[in-house]
Amino acid sequence: MATGRETGRVKIDYQKARHRMVETQLKARGITDERVLQAFGKIARHEFVDPGLEAQAYSDRALPIGHGQTISQPYMVAIMTQSLKPQPQDRVLEVGTGSGYQGAILSVLVRSVYTIERLEPLARRSGEIFTREGLTNIVQQIGDGSIGWALHAPYDGIIVTAGSPRVPPQLLDQLADGGRLVIPTGSSSSQVLKIVTREGNSFRTETSIPCIFVPLLGKEGWNSD
Ligand code: SAH
Repeated sequence: MATGRETGRVKIDYQKARHRMVETQLKARGITDERVLQAFGKIARHEFVDPGLEAQAYSDRALPIGHGQTISQPYMVAIMTQSLKPQPQDRVLEVGTGSGYQGAILSVLVRSVYTIERLEPLARRSGEIFTREGLTNIVQQIGDGSIGWALHAPYDGIIVTAGSPRVPPQLLDQLADGGRLVIPTGSSSSQVLKIVTREGNSFRTETSIPCIFVPLLGKEGWNSD
């Protein structure tokens, strides 16, 4: 069954668009984790974009979600998710809920997702979408995630979806042994993706691809004044 929906006068087959996104943007660029690819085939990205932008939801780009923020490009969400090496029993922290799309992708891959957003309207909107989509293993908080969320630590994975000037030490503290932190670090206008793995009390850092994220604001991020 096609799952097209009327938007204006154009009927869009979202399932087909999603399948094409997985093939041409993710598989073709080296996303190989089968569970990750399945999650992208399953989560309805068009439900997470702003009204009126549904037709562009599966295009190869980030889109505005209001308040100067963006829903990341599908490939960027995919490479960050794959870098986290998500396992079914994992508990994962996401900093920067935004549209909720990254959290939704994680929610079908791990046991539970804890996600923090500093902007209340975005947190509220993503919460409504999680409920509507039946994603019940996501726990939300409004606040400064640059210092993590100590209450539910340690986490098997932490993913930061905003650009940070450095790796916040609190996030390292909140990682479980063997856990991984995926974080874009650099200047406020361009970053590189860092993957930090905890091995006992030492931390191994790998550098992945260049990227451009909106700034992480807050105590360990950029100044929010
Ligand atoms: N993961 C999101 C990407 C959102 S963009 C998605 O899939 O759509 C980054 C988000 O991080 C923005 O919503 C921004 O408000 C939020 N953010 C920035 N600094 C933050 C902080 N210190 N704590 C929590 N959220 C923060």
